[in-house]
Amino acid sequence: MPPGLEDLRLYDTRTRSVRTFEASAPPAVGIYTCGPTVYAPQHLGNMRSQLVPDVLRRVLLAAEYEVTYVTNITDVGHLVSDADEGEDKVEQAAAASGRTATEIAAHWTEQWATDRARLGCLEPDVLPKAASHIDEQIAMVEALERLGHTYVLDDGVYFDVASHPRYAEFAHLDLAELATSGRVERVEEKRHPADFALWKRTAPGVVRQQEWDSPWGRGFPGWHIECSAMATRYLGSRFDIHTGGVDHVRVHHTNEVAQSECALDVHPWVGWWVHTEFLDLGGAKMSKSKGDVLVVDTLVERGLDPLAFRYFTLQAHYRQQQAFTFEAVQAADTALRRLIGHAVAARDAGGAVTDPERVDAYRRRFWAALGDDLNTSQALAVASEASKADDLGPAERWAVLADADRVLGFGLADARSPLPDDSGSDERIDGLVAERESARAARDFATADRVRAELAAEGVEIVDTPTGPTWRHRAD
Ligand code: AMP
Ligand code: ZN
Repeated sequence: MPPGLEDLRLYDTRTRSVRTFEASAPPAVGIYTCGPTVYAPQHLGNMRSQLVPDVLRRVLLAAEYEVTYVTNITDVGHLVSDADEGEDKVEQAAAASGRTATEIAAHWTEQWATDRARLGCLEPDVLPKAASHIDEQIAMVEALERLGHTYVLDDGVYFDVASHPRYAEFAHLDLAELATSGRVERVEEKRHPADFALWKRTAPGVVRQQEWDSPWGRGFPGWHIECSAMATRYLGSRFDIHTGGVDHVRVHHTNEVAQSECALDVHPWVGWWVHTEFLDLGGAKMSKSKGDVLVVDTLVERGLDPLAFRYFTLQAHYRQQQAFTFEAVQAADTALRRLIGHAVAARDAGGAVTDPERVDAYRRRFWAALGDDLNTSQALAVASEASKADDLGPAERWAVLADADRVLGFGLADARSPLPDDSGSDERIDGLVAERESARAARDFATADRVRAELAAEGVEIVDTPTGPTWRHRAD
């Protein structure tokens, strides 16, 4: 156990309080994170909701827990409206592109996995797909039916929220107000607007690419049931931590809790609910349908290291909204390069730690910050301070940073010293960069892209800055 991490305090949405984390069956800890709906690219906001649980998982690993990390792939059942109407997002994307639902799902799953890796996220231990867990979902709906929590309409099987006395508790909902306000979209015959689909029948005359037989007819599972069924399959009927974006509290997680508690007869189902606040993409989030979404590649195209986005994310507390700007990620990129530069110098200086107490003083501050409801900005500040601290020798600095990198995830052990700006050091490359600039000015983007690609192939990266392009040899 690192010094300072003896007490890990973590905010839990269900109890609306910060509580000291206690695993229900130590040293095992199960974490479930709601994953991507794989019909389109995951934007940087989505990725924030992956980065935060990655940090939490790494903190728990550092605290010597045996963590099983599960995040799912939603490849069926998520309808266009988060309620129970409209088309299935994956089917719709397939129809629009002329590819199969399976191809669409595979494509975006791979993109997401690549982006996660580029952001330094550890691979999930289990990555279950909803469409591959239909039996588990049907079994859970059957259990709910047996226990009297469902009713059947023409278009499917619904969960009856009135059958669960604690339905409103999780998100502090006012069900009476919801029933009259019209803020929840209605399927006409539902008994209460908050009732939600567990199984949807394929509409008459429609042929879906993804549909299965069930006791209620041919169709497909509702969106919420997949997470309950897959979490139960891989983590058991109760587990310690469930995470997701804050937008999921009122509907998706409320429904997960209701159906899990009723089907499994448990309460509370999950020990800690950790919700990531939104990355405010402001004007930067472009429409998914246009295909110009702000994604990891957008950063790379601007010469930014994807890990700069990880650094940027760590600079804010996960329960605070964070505003995205390219300038802020550019600043994070600069800070990251500086940190890597110091770390590599300390690492490569070699030598042994002669003053373990000084090392531990920094380590204690670093881990205590993380133990304080994941105060990553404070932890990052300590690491940055240690990287250039006068009271530490190189071996001590490296000891602090190597330890911190277990959570920071910047790959410091293998990092190469970054050369932030190599402009002016090579006439040929300077010439090519200038050629690309003229091509861009003439709107000859084919040439501009070709020059950039040629340079990239030899490990040279062009960085567009507000004062014009610079270039550097890639750090990786
Ligand atoms: P989806 O693919 O739409 O199911 O979303 C995947 C995850 O991203 C969910 O946990 C959402 O809550 C989360 N999410 C969506 N938008 C944002 C955002 N702007 N900032 C942070 N998380 C987000
Ligand atoms: Zn979920």
